[in-house]
Amino acid sequence: MSTAAGEAARRRTFAVISHPDAGKSTLTEALALHAHVIGRAGAVHGKAGRGATVSDWMDMEKARGISITSAALQFAYRDAVVNLLDTPGHADFSEDTYRVLTAVDAAVMLVDAAKGLETQTMKLFAVCKHRGIPIITVINKWDRPGNEALALMDEIAERTGLQPTPLTWPVGIAGDFRGVLDRRDGSYRHFTRTAGGATIAPEKVMDADAALAQEGDAWTTALEESELLEETGAQHDQELFLAGATTPVLFASAVSNFGVAALLDTLVDLAPPPADRPDADGKPRALDDPFSAFVFKVQAGMDTGHRDRLAYIRVCTGVFERGMVVTNAANGRPFATKYAQQVFGRDRETIETAYPGDVVGLVNASALGVGDTLYTDTPVVYPPITTFAPEHFAVARAADTSKYKQFRKGMDTLAGEGVVQVLISERRGDGAPVLAVVGPMQFEVASHRMEHEFGSRISLDHLPYTVARVTDAESAPEVAKARGAEVMTRPDGELLALFTDKWALRTLEQNKPHLTLTPLVAAQ
Ligand code: GDP
Repeated sequence: MSTAAGEAARRRTFAVISHPDAGKSTLTEALALHAHVIGRAGAVHGKAGRGATVSDWMDMEKARGISITSAALQFAYRDAVVNLLDTPGHADFSEDTYRVLTAVDAAVMLVDAAKGLETQTMKLFAVCKHRGIPIITVINKWDRPGNEALALMDEIAERTGLQPTPLTWPVGIAGDFRGVLDRRDGSYRHFTRTAGGATIAPEKVMDADAALAQEGDAWTTALEESELLEETGAQHDQELFLAGATTPVLFASAVSNFGVAALLDTLVDLAPPPADRPDADGKPRALDDPFSAFVFKVQAGMDTGHRDRLAYIRVCTGVFERGMVVTNAANGRPFATKYAQQVFGRDRETIETAYPGDVVGLVNASALGVGDTLYTDTPVVYPPITTFAPEHFAVARAADTSKYKQFRKGMDTLAGEGVVQVLISERRGDGAPVLAVVGPMQFEVASHRMEHEFGSRISLDHLPYTVARVTDAESAPEVAKARGAEVMTRPDGELLALFTDKWALRTLEQNKPHLTLTPLVAAQ
């Protein structure tokens, strides 16, 4: 096997999807403790009072104790290279998170045992499902009182439509976590607590007899429940998992490092490696083709010391070598990758080589936009990254009209990065663009950056629209006349019909069924 396909085969690129507070940062730290960290690109988390927060760079992030940036952490485990792409943690700031999911091959759905499936988890799950990303479920915080394990399985089955296929089953109820039954070989993994979870918790593997002798009823209950599951067909099936029909489940306590090694093993053994990726025409591109990658995230103003723009790319085919000159498929222009980096934020580390599945940060990437394809030798264009249906809209105006140039530049940059979608409404003109976002916090990020990065304070007038549809030039005039509706133009020329609520939309659809009103991909 060539280098690219061979290296790709040992890569696992995934993200954790969860609701804030489910334990994503804790799990990330625990994974890093169990594996050998090769490098990190940006923040793992931005929690106040936690350890190193490499990209704790944004004032707002600091003030709120949340992580807004996304980044990648790469580590070696067994003979695999695991790429963990961070997903911004705040419930509101979601579009960025969705984009990260275009760059992963699998997702870990992290569930708080006491809370079950929460709103943000469900939203992110929907995106994974839409993209066909296989999902491994981790029930976290089993050391604390919570739901019954079987009830959690029911909830997963009902709300996600996935058949849960637990690989391990807890011995001891939530709050009394003793270890897990390994359902594949019937062995018992007994966990030993370490002080504060600062070191790897030793796991003692025992056979069933030893487990019964040690745990008594708790072991018997686990066995009985596991048999019950078997009767309902809850056994792992690799094909069904990869097809997105089932989800392997593990029980863990990230804070005590319980079940973390099992997650790494599951990722290496079951999660899919990078595969041939279909281009915009649906033709799969072989891992061994010349280098190609796409930009899944663009970020600016990370650090006032480095006023540059970073583009994160995911390598799809071939070998990336620092210094290579690549072509941007969007405009045919060359881009020099002299400043390729693996580490962002205050610590930066140059990256020399990367393979399919890896993430590379390109510095000075002002010419790159989200969704752009980069390649050498063989031209290729990967499908554009979906923009999600915005649900919040506001008219932006420069607070100081003498700063109009800065205002324009800032708006263009934020739109290019995909922080907000910038729409132009005929009613309002292009001096008053309309910002469209998935989560209201994106407005705050935009305002903050407009003021601090571009020197143009803005005022926002919120508009009452909540629903967007794609329409066309023929339907637009009629849509614009409807009650509670307005038509705006996206930078790509697409026309968006906005409605105050779904009833306004429904009325129009019923009265004028000939109008084109196509749904966008919903972020829920
Ligand atoms: P995030 O918002 O998903 O990144 O969540 P954090 O990792 O910051 O965790 C939120 C809170 O839950 C913190 O106080 C953690 O210490 C706590 N936590 C995380 N994992 C566990 C766990 O396995 N057991 C218990 N008891 N607490 C946990």
